[in-house]
Amino acid sequence: MKKMNLTAKILIALVIGIITGLSLNVFAPDLFNVLDTYLFTPLGQIFLSLINMLVVPIVFFSLVLGVAGLGDTKKLGRIGVKAIVTFMVTTAIAITIGLTLASVIQPGENSPFSAEEREAASFEEEETPSVGETLLDIIPTNPVSALAEGNMLQIIAFAIFIGFALTVLKEKTKGVLNLFEQGNDIMMYLVGVVMKFAPYGTFGLIASALGEAGFESLQSIMMYVLVVLLALVVHAIVTYGSIIMFLAKKSPIWFYKNFFPAMTVGFSTSSSNATLPISMEVGQRDLKISKSSSSFVQPLGATINMDGTAIMQGVATIFIAQVFDVELTFVQLLTVVMTAVLASIGTAGVPGVGLILLAMVLNSVGLPVAGIGLILGIDRLLDMCRTAINISGDAAVALFVSESEKKRKIKEQRGEA
Ligand code: ASP
Repeated sequence: MKKMNLTAKILIALVIGIITGLSLNVFAPDLFNVLDTYLFTPLGQIFLSLINMLVVPIVFFSLVLGVAGLGDTKKLGRIGVKAIVTFMVTTAIAITIGLTLASVIQPGENSPFSAEEREAASFEEEETPSVGETLLDIIPTNPVSALAEGNMLQIIAFAIFIGFALTVLKEKTKGVLNLFEQGNDIMMYLVGVVMKFAPYGTFGLIASALGEAGFESLQSIMMYVLVVLLALVVHAIVTYGSIIMFLAKKSPIWFYKNFFPAMTVGFSTSSSNATLPISMEVGQRDLKISKSSSSFVQPLGATINMDGTAIMQGVATIFIAQVFDVELTFVQLLTVVMTAVLASIGTAGVPGVGLILLAMVLNSVGLPVAGIGLILGIDRLLDMCRTAINISGDAAVALFVSESEKKRKIKEQRGEA
């Protein structure tokens, strides 16, 4: 009842936030500015800070315990391989769905932009770390600075080392293990407390984002937006539906019903990373994902698995190619798929990362990066939608890994009996 209440409250806040933001944007932009400064942004910021405050300790405590609870490192390797392979495959499927739907529907044909508009488009590119650099960088030379900076891959690596040591040292380090257990309990409890504020925070974040969005530009890219949204829905239903139904042997409806609160937080914050405390709690408590799978797979996914983002990149690549009258060859499309899969690895799930990655993808096939300027205005809104899908993918894969490990355990026990 309590959970239902909170979910319902968040949903209501979401709807009121959308209506408030949109109406202010259209009818009273000046009033929006005042309300945004004194109400929406502060509400959103308080919520964002509260959940961000919990990200690092939750990932760290939970993963140390998860690894310590595994008992052997072989299992960890197995979970890792399963998760990473599924992440890569789903991302490749995601971008293929994006490319295919955009090629069929052709959102950029009959160029919706005038030649001047195309000329005027611009986008400032940012540096992204190369995959090689990121992989080499996984072992933190200074774990304290990894924790302080919230470097997710390094935190994961350090937590695995500590968890492993606790497993080996057993009785000797029982005190520290207890400490981590209690630390984890405290963090999980705090997630519950912070979530009480979620309806207000969601309202503030959504009203602020929608009030600010520039809808004037919407018309010319309406088709682009619709194709991205369609591809996201197809991926959520078909790809994740199949993982949940055929690999995890669970009902997709049950999955989405339970995971919904986390999706709304992903939607309102546009950040897979910031949503981690909630998506992990929901995953462990309501989807019954084991602690070891959830605490390893979900943070890893928030960093390296961004299917919603890949979908946007697929659609955007075709859209920009069509607007600039460039024909992409099959080999170039394959390059797009590969670059998008690799590009997402080193970049953490924070707002707007998708566009930085898109620049990389466009570069790989020689399309004009300035084309991003054409879809910039609407990206904040699409970022919200694709983040909700990104975190659903992480949870679906975590559920699959957890269920397959449970089955394996039962089989092993039977074999031994
Ligand atoms: N905001 C997205 C995330 O955190 C990444 C992106 O597409 O910009 O998952």
